[in-house]
Amino acid sequence: MPDLSFSALLIVLLSPAIGSFLTVLIDRLPRGQSIVWPGSACRACGTGLGPRDLVPVLSFALHRGRCRHCTTQIPPWHLYVEITAIGAAVIMVALGGSALDMALGVVTLWLLLVLAVTDLLWFRLPDPLTGALALCALTLAATEARLIPALWAAAIGSGAFWAIRAGYAAWRGREGLGMGDVKLMAGLGALVGPWDLPLLVLLASGVALGTAMARIAATRQPLRADHPLPFGAALSAAGAVMWLMAQIVN
Ligand SMILES: [Zn+2]
Repeated sequence: MPDLSFSALLIVLLSPAIGSFLTVLIDRLPRGQSIVWPGSACRACGTGLGPRDLVPVLSFALHRGRCRHCTTQIPPWHLYVEITAIGAAVIMVALGGSALDMALGVVTLWLLLVLAVTDLLWFRLPDPLTGALALCALTLAATEARLIPALWAAAIGSGAFWAIRAGYAAWRGREGLGMGDVKLMAGLGALVGPWDLPLLVLLASGVALGTAMARIAATRQPLRADHPLPFGAALSAAGAVMWLMAQIVN
């Protein structure tokens, strides 16, 4: 039964603006830039963006995805992130629950979205994002009276990935798994719990492998072992799907 309370309405009404803020996080965090100052500006011409440039989704559609001042194309992921952020809010409200449940759930989904896109674009999983995800996932677990298994899952997930990372580095003499993935597994482990950790990694591997195969087919270039794969994005997507499925079943 969709929740029609004030908090549900607030989450949906705020989601376009938050989606817009998420694009700022994706654009700036991996570059080590401040996310609050200066205000949004065009990456090409540097012109500061005013209120009419910053209406989520609508500005993009009205100006056909181009900067109003220099007509440079704005990367389409801005639009996809804004739409997905609104979609996540609608899904969480449709699932219902207390105001705290909905707020924690939607923030978790938003964080997973930002992590996935940041990894896809930059092959980076910034610490503030993996840290915030772990905090959100553990708080969610605490509200569902499963904090202890969630802590175990966080430790097992991170520990296993750290061991794979160390083992691969010792074997091949180069980095095969980033430290960002190790930290991401703390939050994802806490989110899905210890028993679903193997399924999470299996699902993410399938997604990553399928994407790599599609890329080989599209570009006709063989995949090399030192070619970076955005595994963090696959993990984040798998985690979001698994967590949502668990919410629907319960
Ligand atoms: Zn411009």
